[in-house]
Amino acid sequence: MKKGKKLYEGKAKIIYSTSDKNLIIQYFKDDATAFNNEKRTIIEGKGVLNNRISEHILTNLSQIGIENHLVKRLNMREQLIKFVEIIPIEFVIRNVATGSLTKRLGIEDGTVLKEPLIEYCLKDDKLGDPLISEDHIYAFEWANKKEIEKIKKTIFRINDFMIGMFRGVGIKLIDFKLEFGRTKIDGRKEIILADEISPDTCRLWDSATDKKLDKDRFRKDLGDLLPAYTEVAKRLGILHEQSNVSAVNVTKLSSIKKKRK
Ligand code: C5P
Repeated sequence: MKKGKKLYEGKAKIIYSTSDKNLIIQYFKDDATAFNNEKRTIIEGKGVLNNRISEHILTNLSQIGIENHLVKRLNMREQLIKFVEIIPIEFVIRNVATGSLTKRLGIEDGTVLKEPLIEYCLKDDKLGDPLISEDHIYAFEWANKKEIEKIKKTIFRINDFMIGMFRGVGIKLIDFKLEFGRTKIDGRKEIILADEISPDTCRLWDSATDKKLDKDRFRKDLGDLLPAYTEVAKRLGILHEQSNVSAVNVTKLSSIKKKRK
């Protein structure tokens, strides 16, 4: 598979063409951005960790029948993915209220939601990815009802699976963002999961201490982002305990086990 020219550069990833028009290469950058690009820095190694963590989650989702764009990881920073027409909506799913939800509605931070909550934001950096309703999606034909019904069902399945996967390694899945795209499978139009699932796009709190193991470490100037992402990768079994990254000051799995007895 030959890597072609740069097609698009986003805040955290670059997309390249390949010799196959149905496949593209997704490169994970080290750039960290927040508040619609107002705050930014480079955290060396972040792209490598997100590439590995996203590959792990998407592969696991594929195994339970959730179709997604990942073909294979090519190297430390790149994945071969299917070309899809991205639906211009960020689908946010929340299990615990925090972040923009608590700011917007005055809900107490950390409130556990009775049911998972889906929110829609228009993917438009210039407008700051505004919150929209389901009716906006139909009014402006960003997606149709059948597509949204299928996406909602898929989101709840992904959420159930990911809650369990993270709970097993002592992490609470607070909320996350998903993107979906249209593609043709065997001549049929299908909607599949796209983009990435990583600590950049999820909120992950240590089960025992509520320590943040995600991009909020950057958004809130908490520091130690790379050790936190490394901890997530280690707990998921992607990196070995002896990997060459400085130790992270979070609760060790052994102490979580003790607490659960
Ligand atoms: O900021 P907010 O509380 O709306 O974020 C909800 C979730 O969506 C968080 O996990 C955040 O990391 C993710 N998100 C994202 N990309 C965005 C906006 C939010 O990955 N552009």
